[in-house]
Amino acid sequence: MTSLTDKTVIAATHAQMNTAPVFDRVDPALLGQQMYALIAELYPICRSITGNGVRETLKGLQHFVPLRLQEVPTGTRVFDWTVPPEWNIRDAYVKNSRGQRVVDFRKSNLHVLNYSVPVHEKMRLAELKPHLFTLSEHPDWIPYRTSYYKRNWGFCLSHKDLLALPDDEYEVCIDASLENGHLTYGEVYLPGTTTDEILISAHTCHPSLANDNLSGVTIACFLARYISNRPRRYSYRFLFIPGTIGAITWLCLNESTVPRIKHGLVLAGLGDFGPLSYKKSRRGDTEIDQVAAHVLRQFGPKSQTLEFSPYGYDERQYCSPGFNLAVGRLSRTPHGTFPEYHTSADDLNFISPQALGESFSACASILSILERNRTYLNTNPKCEPQLGERGLYRLMGGSTDHNTKEMAMLWVLNLSDGTHTLLDIAEHAQLSFDSVYGAAAPLKEQGLLKDVFKGSPSNMVEEKL
Ligand code: ZN
Repeated sequence: MTSLTDKTVIAATHAQMNTAPVFDRVDPALLGQQMYALIAELYPICRSITGNGVRETLKGLQHFVPLRLQEVPTGTRVFDWTVPPEWNIRDAYVKNSRGQRVVDFRKSNLHVLNYSVPVHEKMRLAELKPHLFTLSEHPDWIPYRTSYYKRNWGFCLSHKDLLALPDDEYEVCIDASLENGHLTYGEVYLPGTTTDEILISAHTCHPSLANDNLSGVTIACFLARYISNRPRRYSYRFLFIPGTIGAITWLCLNESTVPRIKHGLVLAGLGDFGPLSYKKSRRGDTEIDQVAAHVLRQFGPKSQTLEFSPYGYDERQYCSPGFNLAVGRLSRTPHGTFPEYHTSADDLNFISPQALGESFSACASILSILERNRTYLNTNPKCEPQLGERGLYRLMGGSTDHNTKEMAMLWVLNLSDGTHTLLDIAEHAQLSFDSVYGAAAPLKEQGLLKDVFKGSPSNMVEEKL
């Protein structure tokens, strides 16, 4: 169950991606299907915060993107933490006295308490019970439980199956190893015309769960593929890391790189049927916070923007006070607020190609605005410039579309005083970013706008609008 048994889907999807270099020509519905297919391929793998399941998953992603596997040895100190021993599992079961497997890792890897120490013993039910975990409120579901930092062993099973276990002598076996090894993570770096970076981070440590983990991993992978095929101002760093310890490890070992990160997104839980949600960075007023809120408003009134809290996924680490990065989190239904969270019901039926495609579109829109957002200075600020003479005004009668374009142009000229970005102007004028961006282009061409560079010198690259 821990091998990619059929590479066909991955290879076919890979070939299709190669022929779709720019987002404008990408069909979110088709992409959604391709992402769903990749999730189905990766779903059976037993992942954890370390071990071969993570390596196998990352190698599956290498069919799509030039991902580098990084190995950090057990025992490495990373800030207040230590990289743990590597965990690998081959088999696990509980057998009754007739030799029948009543709990079987081969049927679902959720059956094992993730990071269990090895065990092989016989015991009565009463002795076994403290090591059994169930969910009485959802008696058909297997819970997902971990014990990374406390040595323990256990099994997770449906409450219905627990109630059906008679008193008996059971053979308990977890054929696992917990030894010196490595923490493995994946990294994709795509240089842009500046060294300023956008960070995209997804956690890779969950076993057979579809929405939590695999949706974020897959969308990040497809985004990397998409970005790699188009011109970009920013450099992009995609991290595929185990939750918490992975982000801590990366931040500790790459501290000198951190100042380059200007914007970032943690991607998690992006395949379910709920509306999109964006959790703001700790700072709360950064450009990506503004961009994400702007984009989410276009995805319907149910989309929501949430304030930062120090609980959640790896935004906790990126937004810890010593880093305080402009990193938010994009999800659909927030983690922990749906009953399927961390259970066997977070399966392939819990996610849809449509939701994955829409989530991808939201990510791509956010990145697209970050790439194009600029601050300009009106070079003719004393009264309005003569637009008609320059062929910019009333060229095509008074259609609604044309009126919008003219209004956008007037807003850009009026608010381009060196302090407002194009997105500020769009928000103020209640226009879409694209219409404001589209209005700025001819104004710049006519010399009525000039760039105002903000931020680091590395960002001072003159580009065609
Ligand atoms: Zn989780």
